[in-house]
Amino acid sequence: MGRFRDARRCAAHGARRGGLPAGGAPGNDRAVRAADGGAVDVAVVGGGLVGLATAHALVGRAGRRVAVLEAEPRVAAHQSGHNSGVIHSGLYYRPGSLKAENCVAGRDAMYRFCAEHDVPHARTGKVVVATAERELPALAELERRGRANGLRGLRRLAPDELRAREPHVRAVAALLVPETGIVDFGRVAEAMAADVRAGGGTVRTGVRVLGCREHGGGLVVETTGGPLHARVLVNCAGLQSDRVARRCGVRPDVRIVPFRGEYWTLVPARRGLVRGLVYPVPDPEFPFLGVHFTRRIDGAIEAGPNAVLALRREGYRWTDVSPRDVAALALWPGAWRMAGRYWRTGLGEVRRSLSKRAFVAALRGLVPDVCAADLAPGGSGVRAQAVLPDGRLLDDFRIVETPRMVHVLNAPSPAATASLAIGARLAALAAARLG
Ligand SMILES: Cc1cc2nc3c(=O)[nH]c(=O)nc-3n(C[C@H](O)[C@H](O)[C@H](O)COP(=O)(O)OP(=O)(O)OC[C@H]3O[C@@H](n4cnc5c(N)ncnc54)[C@H](O)[C@@H]3O)c2cc1C
Repeated sequence: MGRFRDARRCAAHGARRGGLPAGGAPGNDRAVRAADGGAVDVAVVGGGLVGLATAHALVGRAGRRVAVLEAEPRVAAHQSGHNSGVIHSGLYYRPGSLKAENCVAGRDAMYRFCAEHDVPHARTGKVVVATAERELPALAELERRGRANGLRGLRRLAPDELRAREPHVRAVAALLVPETGIVDFGRVAEAMAADVRAGGGTVRTGVRVLGCREHGGGLVVETTGGPLHARVLVNCAGLQSDRVARRCGVRPDVRIVPFRGEYWTLVPARRGLVRGLVYPVPDPEFPFLGVHFTRRIDGAIEAGPNAVLALRREGYRWTDVSPRDVAALALWPGAWRMAGRYWRTGLGEVRRSLSKRAFVAALRGLVPDVCAADLAPGGSGVRAQAVLPDGRLLDDFRIVETPRMVHVLNAPSPAATASLAIGARLAALAAARLG
């Protein structure tokens, strides 16, 4: 919990600026009733892994009355169900950061959870490879961070060891990361939701939170399913988290910008080109890992994801366009500053999105034998990336607290891996507010 105290405390909340006006919500106070047969202690907005893990920790530890409110008809409908399925080791993150701390703790908790709940998973390990001499200093920095973050078994592979492990990979140096694994995070989310229900909590799907306001020493959470009394609200709304915060009266200093990641899949006959997980040395200026190869838990091999600006918060294809989302971004000066900072990298990502040939060229840097005919279109996912007003992409997790609310305003990768650790911390913050 200590590190979360670093998270911004925010005084503006409840019925103040931007929140639902006191008494002004749809329905009067008599109509304000809990949809779950009584007021809850904690309303969790969002049935992704972070929200579910928070509820999981609350019902497990304190027997609190908890309701998870999820807008979509099922849990894990967005980031938690559209990702690479990698249990990250904790290699990349600045030692001492929330990402580093929660990824390492969350990774071990995730392996335990999967084993206890019969969720198929595998501790495969992965290799990070430098394909040119100029990448060696960045690979050395990754190794240093990994050691500082306490990773076990981290070591360089000799050329013959790399050949034995990944015969088709070309590299000047390779780092073996044994603690990395793979899992279907959608299955993890379903298991968490089942535990929450079994523990007496509620997971309500198809219920969108519209906002909340202070009422009688607690909160009234307005939803499409009617109002709900809660003592504390935890906002884990991912791609909508900044908007939910604003509708609860908080003015976050960041804006969520959606970055789509697109995948290709190796056709079954060519899966032998990659045996496990093969990653490049990432661009240290960019919080994304660069296109890589990932073996999925079902045996498929995916290539990707890239990172292109999505034209809708939940924009899984180029044709998914929201005029409202585009206009909101275009009118925000931070978006233009972001474009000024990252335009070169961004153009490269767009080229790799629009041209299969460019995407394949990036992959051939890792596996020269791969060619366009080896790849079939795969899925995509959209990252909720917080951007600061000066246009920088916020690297670390970001939590904003008020006396009755906790808002998660940046939980990008590795938040799926780290979800049980983040959830435990958020549950502690919520419990502290319950007194
Ligand atoms: C392409 C891609 C690859 C990734 N790969 C990995 C990986 O390999 N390993 C890893 O650890 N992480 C990975 N991540 C990151 C990881 O998936 C996310 O960090 C994590 O899933 C975030 O979980 P969440 O619960 O915060 O968000 P989400 O899963 O997006 O959940 C938020 C939920 O809130 C709901 N919601 C929104 N607004 C409202 C509202 N008003 N009312 C009610 N509900 C609402 C949404 O419907 C959604 O279900 C990847 C992400 C992407 C996009």
